[in-house]
Amino acid sequence: MTGIPRRHFLVASLASAALAAPFGIVRGAPVGFSADPYTLGIASGCPRADSVILWTRLAPRPLEDGGMTDAPVEVEWQVAEDDKFARIVAHGTERATAELAHSVHAEARGLQPDRVYWYRFRAGTAVSPIGRTRTAPAGHKARVRFAFASCQQYEQGWFSAYRDMAARDLDLVVHLGDYIYERSWGSHHVREHGVGIPTTLPEYRNRYALYKGDADLQAAHAAFPWLSIWDDHEVMDDYANDRSYTVRDPQLFLKIRAAAYQAYYEHMPLPSSMRPRGPDATIYEHYRFGDVMDVLLLDDRQFRSASACVNGGRPTWIVPCAERLDEARTMLGGAQEKWFDDRLGNCRARWTVVAQQTLMAQDRRGAEDGDRYWMDGWDGYPNARRRLLDALAAHKTRNPIVIGGDRHAFHAASLKRDFTRHDEPTIATEFVGTSITSEGPGETTTRKATADNPNLAFVRGDRRGYATVELDAKTCTVGFEAVDDVKDIKSGVKRLATFVVEDGTRGPKAA
Ligand code: FE
Ligand code: CA
Repeated sequence: MTGIPRRHFLVASLASAALAAPFGIVRGAPVGFSADPYTLGIASGCPRADSVILWTRLAPRPLEDGGMTDAPVEVEWQVAEDDKFARIVAHGTERATAELAHSVHAEARGLQPDRVYWYRFRAGTAVSPIGRTRTAPAGHKARVRFAFASCQQYEQGWFSAYRDMAARDLDLVVHLGDYIYERSWGSHHVREHGVGIPTTLPEYRNRYALYKGDADLQAAHAAFPWLSIWDDHEVMDDYANDRSYTVRDPQLFLKIRAAAYQAYYEHMPLPSSMRPRGPDATIYEHYRFGDVMDVLLLDDRQFRSASACVNGGRPTWIVPCAERLDEARTMLGGAQEKWFDDRLGNCRARWTVVAQQTLMAQDRRGAEDGDRYWMDGWDGYPNARRRLLDALAAHKTRNPIVIGGDRHAFHAASLKRDFTRHDEPTIATEFVGTSITSEGPGETTTRKATADNPNLAFVRGDRRGYATVELDAKTCTVGFEAVDDVKDIKSGVKRLATFVVEDGTRGPKAA
C-alpha cells in the first residue's frame, strides 16, 4: 500500500545531535540533578503560523512524584532553524514550579509559517534531548499530512504504533483522548500500572509519568507538534460533566476532575492560557493550516448532559427510554455550541476537520427487545448531534471531515441528519481511528454494526493502530494503519484500508 512515506528520519538520533551552540547564562543558582530530569521527554503542540508551544517536565524520579524539591527552577529553551542550533530564532526562560509539577509550557513566538524548527531545554547543567516541530502554514499550501490517535491503555500493549508514526513525514499529530487510563482492565497484559485508580493530583501525575516514560510515545512527541483533547479515561470511565457512575457524589467527583484536568495540563504541550481553574478548563479551539485545513477541536466530556436512561449507572448498550430524545440534552454545552457555530462561519480552508472524542455516526444494534444504543456516545445525545450537523449544513461548511476515537475500532461512515433515511444527503464524512493499544470489539460485533447501519461503510475492531490523513486540493486520503501484533514490542505496522473523499463530495469511498 502506498501512503504517507516513512522517512526514517532518525528520531532516535535527535537526542544525540551535537550541541554546537551553547546556551546563554541562566540567572539564579546553577541547578544540579542527581539523575536525568528529562525522563518524560519533550513535546511541542498547538502550532500556529507564527508560534508553537514547547513542553517538558523536570522529573528525575518520574514515578516518585517527580523527585524534585519544592524549589522553582529556571528552564531555558531555544528554537533553531537547524538541528545543530547554529541559527537560533527564539529563546526564553520559564520558571518551573512545584505547583505545576515542574512542567514547562513555553510559547515560542515570532516564527515563520510552515517551517521545521528544532528545540531544546536547559535546566542548570542538564540539557534536554532535541525535538523537531513545525509551524502551521499560512496562505497557500499544496498538502497537509497528519496522523490521529486515541486510546492507549498501557498494560494491554506496546506503543509500536507511535514508533511507526514517528518515522513518517507528518505536519501534525492529533490525539483524541484516552491518553492515559485510570484503571486496569483487559487481558494478556504486557506491563502493569502497578497501582490502583488515581483520585489525587500526585496519583494522576504518577500515571502520566508512567505512560510518558514510553520511548515510542516520546519519539512521536519529539517528531511532530500535537493537538490534543481528552476523553473520559483521563479522569474516570464514562464520566459526563460532574457525573460518574463510580464516584456518585458530584462534589467529590469534581475534586477528582480538578486533579485530573491539572495533571493533563501539566503533561501536554498546551498554552498556559489553557491551564485549568479548579475543575474547569477550556480545551476546545480552532487551528488553521493555510488554505488546506481548518481544525475545530471539541470537548464533549466536560459540558455534556448526564447519561440518559441509566439512573446514575454505567451508560452501556441499552434500549433507551424517552429521556434520550429530550431536546435540551447537550454534548458540548451551550457556550461551546455557540462557539462552534461562530467558528464554522470563520472556516475558509478547503477541508474542515472536526476533531472530537467518539463515534458520531449512529450505531444502532437491532435486538429482540428493540434497538440498542451505546448511551455514552453521540447515540445517547441524538438531538445534540442533529444540531451539530445542522450547523455544518447551515454554514455550507467546505468538505467537513469528522474524526474520532473512543470506540477502539476503525470506522468509516456517512453522517446524516436523520440516520433512519439512508437516501438523505450525507452532511459530513467521518473516520474513527482504532486504539493505539486498547482492546476492541470482535468480528461478530462489528459485522452486526455494519449490517444494522448502512451509514457505517467500514468497521474493524480486531486491530490496533492509528489513522493517517493526507489533504490536498482534490482529495482527502485516509489510511487505517494497523499494528501487526500489539503484544510484540518489535511489531511492524501495515496499511489495513484506504478511503478517499473527493473535494466537493460527501462520504467515504474505498480506495
Ligand atoms: Fe478508550
Ligand atoms: Ca473513551
